[in-house]
Amino acid sequence: MTVLYETVIGLEVHAQLKTESKIFCACSTKFGSRPNTQVCPVCLGLPGVLPVLNERAVRFAVMTGIAMGATISERSVFARKNYFYPDLPKGYQISQYDRPLCVGGGIDIRAAGVSKRIGLVRIHLEEDAGKSLHPEGREGVTTTRVDLNRTGVPLIEIVSEPEIRSGAEAYDYLIRLKQILVYLGVCDGNMEEGSLRCDANVSVRPKGQVAFGTKAEIKNMNSFRNVERAIAFETGRQIGIVESGGRVVQETLLWNADKGTAEPMRSKEEAHDYRYFPEPDLPPLDLTPAWIESIRSELPELPNEVRERLVREFGIPEYDAEVLTETRALASYYEDVARRSGNPKLASNWIMTEVNGIRNKQGQSIEEFPIRSDRLGDLVRMIAAERISGKIGKQLFEMMLTTPEGPEELVKAQGLLPIDDEGSLRALAREVIAANPGPAAEVRAGKERTFAFLVGQAMKQSRGRAHPEKLQAALRKEVGLP
Ligand code: ADP
Ligand code: MG
Ligand code: ZN
Repeated sequence: MTVLYETVIGLEVHAQLKTESKIFCACSTKFGSRPNTQVCPVCLGLPGVLPVLNERAVRFAVMTGIAMGATISERSVFARKNYFYPDLPKGYQISQYDRPLCVGGGIDIRAAGVSKRIGLVRIHLEEDAGKSLHPEGREGVTTTRVDLNRTGVPLIEIVSEPEIRSGAEAYDYLIRLKQILVYLGVCDGNMEEGSLRCDANVSVRPKGQVAFGTKAEIKNMNSFRNVERAIAFETGRQIGIVESGGRVVQETLLWNADKGTAEPMRSKEEAHDYRYFPEPDLPPLDLTPAWIESIRSELPELPNEVRERLVREFGIPEYDAEVLTETRALASYYEDVARRSGNPKLASNWIMTEVNGIRNKQGQSIEEFPIRSDRLGDLVRMIAAERISGKIGKQLFEMMLTTPEGPEELVKAQGLLPIDDEGSLRALAREVIAANPGPAAEVRAGKERTFAFLVGQAMKQSRGRAHPEKLQAALRKEVGLP
């Protein structure tokens, strides 16, 4: 009998908060500056200094907790997490341990057509460590340099319950988590710059078994797709161990994206004992219910709220609303085009296919897209009103990508107005018949299929402007068909 296995996944996400200054000092958090230029005695961990908590970091963490349905603790406590590492000059990281800022909550996901809510264990505040760089030194020797610009940058850690069941669910969870953070404006979501980092805890168990299997933790994945791949790899590895009669050991693995494998980093024997204890230099963090409520009342619209509103207000399908709320800016762009065009579904189609087609090809955000919502709104309005055909609409769209003019001006300047009066269409028909005497004769002899050829030629001649049905009628008359 073959055993079916189920994968159990819990994700730990570190998100860098978009504050100007660090969490316990006034140093800048700007990314990409020269190494060790954004440091001070506090974030260097020199003796005799005291940390001062950044209020905005707390505000951002509370906003995130509220958006994710967590309970905000009126009292939370900072703790020292002790470990030795070259990029951690203090010898400890200030984090939160047994009394985190946010408890519970969840993120709604949808993978393979199934909707479910992934619960959260906690969201806590902590400071980031520095960064070890390994440039090649003289004669090809690898060196290690430490950049402490990142020490003390504020982070939140969002820990999920082990309720994720596949790489696809993990991927969707991460997409939606990032979307919430970016909508809130608390994190820029930039994975390349390390603003968002994810560790995956993975175990397998025979389907139907209640108890969890032993988990392994995978680190070092620099994209959501890599998280998905790493989970697939690790699931296969663990099933292989179990099937061959072995036991999974609890360990930390490093994902190697080039090889597509995860390799051991440290095993349980070397597991850290962090000797957590309450941070003596910071009092407990006490928040008043009034302050928490004021943040709740000022929270911006969240992705799922915008989605629901677009469906309600504009009557577009849920699928469209999903695509159009990718970012808050795209949703606003859509709202403008929908209103200005007077045809919300046509507006949605144009953005999902034409606008997103170009954006994906160019790697452009909607903010960088050259056609602003007013011009696209006018274009869609002209198509909706049947002043121009969809085909002419596409030609105009192409032109608008490189010119600042609106569609009305372009239509006039380029002579693209539709041809639908009988006189012009009959003249066009005569021209085409004269230029194609052979095919015209075939049509008169009863060859229906050649008629389509003449229609095609006439349409081409009009550069797509001829009204299709009226053009056919004009051609029939001119060629002498009943
Ligand atoms: P640890 O003490 O090893 O850090 P935690 O209980 O804090 O473990 O959980 C860390 C993460 O691992 C959480 O996201 C949690 O959901 C997940 N997790 C816990 N147990 C398992 C398991 N058996 N399989 C997969 N994920 C798990
Ligand atoms: Mg943990
Ligand atoms: Zn500093």
